[in-house]
Amino acid sequence: LTDRFSKALERLRNTRKLTEKQLNDILRDIRMALLEADVDYDVVKTFLKRIRERALTEDLKNNLSPAESVLLTVYEELVKILGETKEDLKKGTVLFVGLQGTGKTTTVGKLAYYLKGKGFKVALTSTDVRRPAAILQLQRLAERVEVPYYSAEGEEDPVKIAQIAVKRAKDEGVDYLLLDTAGRLHIDEELMEELRRIKETVNPSEILYVADAMQGQEALRAAKTFHETVGLTGVVLTKMDGDARGGVALSVREALGVPIKFMGVGEKLEDIEPFYPDRVAQRILGLGDIQSLVERAQQVIPEDEAQALAVRIMKGEFDLEDMLKQIRFVLNMGPLDKIIGMLPGLGQYAKHLKLDEKLLKRKEAIILSMTKEERKNPAIINLSRKQRIARGSGTTVSEVNKLLKEYEEARKLIRKLKNAKGPLGIPRIPF
Ligand code: GDP
Ligand code: MG
Repeated sequence: LTDRFSKALERLRNTRKLTEKQLNDILRDIRMALLEADVDYDVVKTFLKRIRERALTEDLKNNLSPAESVLLTVYEELVKILGETKEDLKKGTVLFVGLQGTGKTTTVGKLAYYLKGKGFKVALTSTDVRRPAAILQLQRLAERVEVPYYSAEGEEDPVKIAQIAVKRAKDEGVDYLLLDTAGRLHIDEELMEELRRIKETVNPSEILYVADAMQGQEALRAAKTFHETVGLTGVVLTKMDGDARGGVALSVREALGVPIKFMGVGEKLEDIEPFYPDRVAQRILGLGDIQSLVERAQQVIPEDEAQALAVRIMKGEFDLEDMLKQIRFVLNMGPLDKIIGMLPGLGQYAKHLKLDEKLLKRKEAIILSMTKEERKNPAIINLSRKQRIARGSGTTVSEVNKLLKEYEEARKLIRKLKNAKGPLGIPRIPF
């Protein structure tokens, strides 16, 4: 989707005035992009109608080229369709519903981690009695997050299990009781009846539908049935780290009329984010999700240091000290591919990056074996210096060469990032 948007907008990059034909061309490209991303047909139609109207009637925005104006309009309308940020969860019992394999149990674990991190008291339970493995999976997650798992030994009735857990949560003053429910491969009446009874019994504060973003429109067809049966209060979109970023998100509002509250962006506990429409819209348009990136970095490093590095990168300055910092961030932070994937144009590149901790440690050692001067000005590193560095770090000259080459490539990339101003003046990598 992102690629197609980029292409559509590329056409307009160098025009000064927007002609009717150009507008038609770009709207056609956007339509194709959205339909290919499995966005609902009616949503696409309405969306394009609004863009056309605005493009034809509104004056060009201050200081913006026609292309940038259209882009901004597309962006604003995307944000509108995606809805507002509604990350707040009402305290009480939160019921998670959805089909099997969409990421329900994982999401319960992630949200427990997220809410606990915000200082709330959280407890978990599962009513998936037919699949002991599912209960075990959630118990393990509870252990890892260090929140209680309420089990009802010997109890076979999902409704009773829920009831017991809710009572205990009240007694213990829990803010959020997260209730994982059974899923099926397909919707069946028995499951719906079970959910209906659980709902009546526990009177949940939230009922969240967990949808797999990779499934596209299919995920929402099932959601409608759940919505009609139990009434959803929100959606969690999982697997937004996959290729299908965006498509379903654009249709959720239209299909269900409830907000997307969170999105899953990976398999680990910390891979959950509140759903920020502006960021997702930026991601769809290929502007990169710079805000998320900065926040992710902030989780493990002091804010001022992160900002200082970001500023240096924006200025196109980047030396081996910076590279050392980056290596250390990554060693602390985990998935490099994901972080890179958030930057515009680098998604493809991310696929080739595999985080190899041992290798990073060797690289760290190489830079640590350099003098301050060498780090600031790598050009002075001649063969005898390379030999010294290799000895000092317990590596080889060819490894030192390799690192210097990587540094040189990173530096070039960052130069380009600085020089290539994209739409809205945001630096953009030209590939
Ligand atoms: P459930 O049957 O709905 O409870 O699904 P699970 O929670 O067991 O998850 C099914 C699979 O999806 C597991 O392999 C999870 O690791 C994976 N999964 C869940 N959420 C995400 C996500 O946000 N991103 C990715 N990449 N995988 C996810
Ligand atoms: Mg499950």
